[in-house]
Amino acid sequence: MSVSFDLNDLDELTLNAKQIQDNLLEEILTINTNTEYLRQFLHGSSDKELFKKNVPVVMYEDVKPYIERVANGEPSGVISGKAVTQFLLSSGTSGGKQKIFPVNKKFFEDMAFITAQSSSIISKHIEGVKQGKTMTFYFARVPSSTPSGLPVSFVRGSYLTSESFKNESSYRYTSPNEVMLCSDNKQAMHCHLLCGLIQRDEVVSLAAPFACSLVGAITVLENNWKELCSNIRSGHVSEWITDFACREVVTNILGGPNSELADRIEEECQKESWKGIITRLWPKTKFIQSVITGQNAQFIPMLEFYSNKLPLISPIYASSETMFGVNVNPLCKPQDISYTFMPNMSYFEFLRAGDNGNEGDIVDLVDVQIGCYYEPLVTNYFGLHRYRMGDILQVSGFHNNAPQFRFVRRKSVVLSINVEVTTEEDILKALNHATDHLIKTSDLILMGFTCYADIASLPGHYVFYWELKAKKVDDIVKLDNKVMVECCCVMEESLNFLYRKVRTNEGSIGPLEIRVVQQGTFDSLMKLFISRGASASQYKPPICINSSEALELLENSVIARFFSDKFPPP
Ligand code: AMP
Repeated sequence: MSVSFDLNDLDELTLNAKQIQDNLLEEILTINTNTEYLRQFLHGSSDKELFKKNVPVVMYEDVKPYIERVANGEPSGVISGKAVTQFLLSSGTSGGKQKIFPVNKKFFEDMAFITAQSSSIISKHIEGVKQGKTMTFYFARVPSSTPSGLPVSFVRGSYLTSESFKNESSYRYTSPNEVMLCSDNKQAMHCHLLCGLIQRDEVVSLAAPFACSLVGAITVLENNWKELCSNIRSGHVSEWITDFACREVVTNILGGPNSELADRIEEECQKESWKGIITRLWPKTKFIQSVITGQNAQFIPMLEFYSNKLPLISPIYASSETMFGVNVNPLCKPQDISYTFMPNMSYFEFLRAGDNGNEGDIVDLVDVQIGCYYEPLVTNYFGLHRYRMGDILQVSGFHNNAPQFRFVRRKSVVLSINVEVTTEEDILKALNHATDHLIKTSDLILMGFTCYADIASLPGHYVFYWELKAKKVDDIVKLDNKVMVECCCVMEESLNFLYRKVRTNEGSIGPLEIRVVQQGTFDSLMKLFISRGASASQYKPPICINSSEALELLENSVIARFFSDKFPPP
């Protein structure tokens, strides 16, 4: 049975948010009350007030021993009232270490539901979406398994193999399942691009879970379009595509030599500039769909450049713990994106975060206040109770009775040298201003960035690694000292008050530095994280670097250094 979603359902859900949340908590407690984990707090009761009074707010380390016992072969009942059938692996690139979470097929039903919901909302705003195909960049890996034999894999890969995905009716994709499921990401990427190019006239949207994968795909296209065109011209897939299923299905889609198509693609790719390449190669594309909030906000200028400013839709806020919500206003400006929480996904509570004296208060979904900052606490069907997500959100409004949240940052991401605390949001804001300046004053675009607080020399200072690219394809990156120094200054001016004060009045922070790295460095960084277990679909480039191996890779690629040359204004 396929999952479909009627927009009246959205009203139904958001109007009755409180009742739905109450019923859902009751259901979760009834299912899980006799687990070893909950019994110690609730003694067999499924009373909601007792739940709030006795069940502690936890972090991963608190529940990890219970999760690991099930992974090691003890019955699901240690933590979950229903059978755990697999574990999901978090990407580990947004907030540090990788974690595993118990789930069963309900998780993927929720994922299909929210995908269908988001697709209906988009169709309401953009005509003809269902008539065409979506060119996707989804990747899977061969699942590993726990000592007890249960599969462990990433959300996207697991979803692609689930019954829920087989029944998904939301989108028609240019890539067949064999390509999405190919466990060699390099072969899969070549085939995704090939399938998309062959069916270029049917493509109405491009999609990837996170914007960095889309930018990565365009970079692969830029480096390999000659080979892709040669495949199309000859009707033969490159010999190095050895995954049998993938080869067979893509050969079928190729359907024989097509020199006319190869000529048309070559004509576009060899033009001097790749500005608007997406609409030039896929002329019917109406929008791009991928998360562009949080860490992925840095890719907005690149996607705007490649797509000639097509609408960028950030559809869903989701994680390996639960689905949270959808963007009900998909055509809004990137800075206005917010996600309406769906009350039927998990039981959500909110821990007030650092904006004033009420910090630490816990409120229900419908009781959050506009303008305030919160960290979500998740109680899901599979054994997480009052689990701290580590994301900081701000309430931006309500859709009926369901609150809408702006994604602010990961809680753990901060730079600090002295007393100042520079958050992910501060860093992204400063970077935004600097990239605006770069675009206006040079022929360069920023392809990747990360940063760290260098305290090896005194005074310590902030270091930003930047990978740059010329807007024109064959141009080399010419670094203009004046522009780069100005970019350093623009970033310092945009950082928060405390940073500027400590830097200017006390001299305890040294001038901000940009270290330009060779092209391809951020690709190597992604490969390093993937070789250490991150997933290609879930990868989010780290905003701050805290791995010595990654830092060494970056340091070995530095080609130029620039420092701010004046104190920021107070
Ligand atoms: P994972 O469990 O590896 O899929 O990572 C989930 C994390 O990705 C979330 O806790 C967020 O930090 C981040 N994330 C997911 N969706 C979004 C979104 N729409 N905007 C910003 N960050 C997101």
